[in-house]
Amino acid sequence: DPEDAADKDTAKVGFVRVRGAREHNLKNVDVDIPRDALVVFTGVSGSGKSSLAFSTLYAEAQRRYLESVSPYARRLFHQMSVPDVDAIEGLPPAVALQQQRGSPTARSSVGSVTTLSNLLRMLYSRAGDYPPGQPLLEAEAFSANTPEGACPTCHGLGRVHEVTEASMVPDPSLTIRERAVAAWPTAWGGQNLRDILITLGIDVDTPWRDLPRETRDWILFTEEQPEVPVYPGFSVAEVREAIRRKLPPNYMGTFSSARRHVMHSFATTHSAMMKKRAASFMVSSPCPTCAGRRLRPESLSVTFEGLDIAAMGQLQLKRIASLFAAYAGDGSERLEELRRTRPETAIVIARIAADLCRRLAVLLDLGLGYLTLERSTPTLSPGELQRLRLATQVVSTLFGVVYVMDEPSAGLHPADTQALLRALDGLKAVGNSLFVVEHDLDVVRHADWIVDVGPAAGEGGGRILYSGPPKGLRRVAASETARHLFAPDHGQRRTPREPQGWLRLADVTRNNLTNLNCAFPLGVMTTVTGISGSGKSSLVSQALVDLVGKALGAPVAVEEPPADAEAMLEQEPVAETEGRIEGGPKDALGGIKRLIRVDQKPIGRTPRSNLATYTGLLDHVRTLFAETPEAKRRRYDAGRFSFNVAKGRCPRCEGEGFVMVELLFLPSVYAPCPVCHGTRYNAQTLEITYRGKTIADVLGLTVAAASDFFHDVPAIQRSLTVLRAVGLDYLRLGQPATEFSGGEAQRIKLATELQRAQRGGALYVLDEPTTGLHPTDVERLVAQLDALVAAGNTVVVVDHDMGVAAASDWVIDIGPGAGDEGGRVVAAGVPAVVAASPDSRTAPHLRPFLR
Ligand code: ADP
Ligand code: ADP
Ligand code: ZN
Ligand code: ZN
Repeated sequence: DPEDAADKDTAKVGFVRVRGAREHNLKNVDVDIPRDALVVFTGVSGSGKSSLAFSTLYAEAQRRYLESVSPYARRLFHQMSVPDVDAIEGLPPAVALQQQRGSPTARSSVGSVTTLSNLLRMLYSRAGDYPPGQPLLEAEAFSANTPEGACPTCHGLGRVHEVTEASMVPDPSLTIRERAVAAWPTAWGGQNLRDILITLGIDVDTPWRDLPRETRDWILFTEEQPEVPVYPGFSVAEVREAIRRKLPPNYMGTFSSARRHVMHSFATTHSAMMKKRAASFMVSSPCPTCAGRRLRPESLSVTFEGLDIAAMGQLQLKRIASLFAAYAGDGSERLEELRRTRPETAIVIARIAADLCRRLAVLLDLGLGYLTLERSTPTLSPGELQRLRLATQVVSTLFGVVYVMDEPSAGLHPADTQALLRALDGLKAVGNSLFVVEHDLDVVRHADWIVDVGPAAGEGGGRILYSGPPKGLRRVAASETARHLFAPDHGQRRTPREPQGWLRLADVTRNNLTNLNCAFPLGVMTTVTGISGSGKSSLVSQALVDLVGKALGAPVAVEEPPADAEAMLEQEPVAETEGRIEGGPKDALGGIKRLIRVDQKPIGRTPRSNLATYTGLLDHVRTLFAETPEAKRRRYDAGRFSFNVAKGRCPRCEGEGFVMVELLFLPSVYAPCPVCHGTRYNAQTLEITYRGKTIADVLGLTVAAASDFFHDVPAIQRSLTVLRAVGLDYLRLGQPATEFSGGEAQRIKLATELQRAQRGGALYVLDEPTTGLHPTDVERLVAQLDALVAAGNTVVVVDHDMGVAAASDWVIDIGPGAGDEGGRVVAAGVPAVVAASPDSRTAPHLRPFLR
């Protein structure tokens, strides 16, 4: 049997053998993947790359690992999803370097992710300069996350949270009876407190601002809690009379000042909503004790090179590297002197400096030298965070593992790709395997082995088109990857469209931008380029969005508030953009009436949000079901067919289709609901059918299938047509938002925008829209952006994809370097002009795309 022979063959040379993989859309595939090699998984978005690399290979490695460590974890893992695969052999332990979607905790920082902070703490503890007489401190004393180190006033947060008159009484023209004290409870509790004030003789019918200062302060801030008789509904005079006549009160009430109430509910409530409400009456300011440096005064008194450890955290990594270079290596003068004066200290410093420099070198090589140690991870882009983790792994001593990665080139300028390839090669050289999902053709070309998944997305994909060394892919006709990898030329030359006007930003100051002037052409598509950290996002996603948003007078639909109140308080205050739109806001907007950001942020964190609800398509479907004769007979209205309304949905999972399983020590997971088996609806609702399908059946249709099913319903067709146009035919209508990749979420948002009547006059802002997209998907995206421009809109994208830059009408190149070496407009013009700029680091990479 030739197949058996082949199996024996691959078993010999160190392959991971996958048999019968069926996770998500995978079509029962067999594939052999070499170990100790750089393996790149390619294929169009939604073809099944992640299903193979992460949901099958990584998930299985993880499961085996947990099985080996704990029987308890094993039991839990049996409840969770076991990858749907017959067999995997030869799989080493795996480490995933995945792009984090969702928010990591606010306390994680560049210093903690890279473990550089640990080294510095050791250095300060053992070899710092202490004030005379102060005993040595332990390394923990230099961390704000330990009781030994945290500033006692702010507990290491760097900010204090207090209530003020303005925060608790937003409208001082109101009287107490009109609920001037907004921070008090809304329902009975608030009425109780107002009644108590009446008993205490306070005038509740005078506007707040006209009450005496002492009275206002007492009501808001006192720690006293007098207990007084309460006569609801009585006036001050009537209460006085009642007390004189010794009338029995309704009850005895206990007063609590607004501050006591807010602080107490924030500290003790178990309800996330109450906690959020309490937080909304608090304001934060820098801690008076540590001035935002988070550490105790003793810890801050220890210095190295004249800097306390907090100041060190504010230096860019490249500065720290040059500072310690003076101590690393044998020829160092500084070290020689220390060896004479403080020999033991010299040994500690030499060791730590060498280790720091070794780690920093990799970070600088990956183009991250502009970051600071204190920068919190939620403010980093997913690509930056993944490269930080990658750099940390490169210097670790792990070997014999497989690193599974998700598009490590995300956010990386082509000028930095070589550094990324060096880092990957470094991991491989010490005996690791690399399984990388990637679209960047330079990375794909560098692979030892390609696994091409396809040919299309969803149901149309899930097959292995090719598994072997890159050059063999050329022969695979069905492969979209082959078409791009071996294309004779890069895309087509085109004539840039003429701008319809200009939007001029002036004196913009934000992050690394200082008094920058920059003009964006209207009615065309602009790509903003520049190396990572040069200031593209600061200019586009922050300054442009802020200034235009302000000029339009409408808040832009941006991030949702953080999920919980703790995170809300820990958030650093949002920086303000300084700057203006030249020529006065109204006329200078050149006809822009709306501002729309289309980002890759998840469109919902629970399965309650799905494709059909997000696009509004479900509303039309529900109406169709309510209009069926049987629904009419039973008086089921459209609401009955919503899984967000109690009457029609499954009572067990309340319409989520999933129940959350809490796992000890592990992130909780969603499992299908045991009552409705994931259909979300109760049995009666599912008795209603439309053209032979229940509402749950309809939610199970793919966009393509729904398009046939509803071929004669124009309202539904409108949504489906745009979803197909952005290449999402394969998604199911009821597919929960939690399953969408960043690229899918972005295209759903784009489709939702496109289905609105195209009125023109909108400014679309997209930050790295090609992340996670195969070159074929990028072509589609560009076509959609072109359609927006054709309909009279303006498009501004930040991107590294030179195909996108070449296809746009205007390019603005920011740089030349990162951080304080960037932040300027290096070149601006039609693509050919920027490609010819001698100062632009983008130019050499753009040129080949314009030939
Ligand atoms: P790629 O990584 O190639 O972009 P994926 O492996 O993420 O593709 O997705 C392949 C298919 O599986 C798509 O149709 C996607 O919608 C679907 N899919 C992804 N995650 C899930 C999930 N958790 N449950 C069900 N289907 C999923
Ligand atoms: P790009 O988009 O070109 O990668 P950014 O605009 O994100 O660059 O960053 C430009 C500079 O501003 C960098 O030095 C970066 O560290 C800094 N920066 C960006 N965002 C923040 C932030 N939220 N807080 C502090 N510094 C920031
Ligand atoms: Zn403090
Ligand atoms: Zn259920």
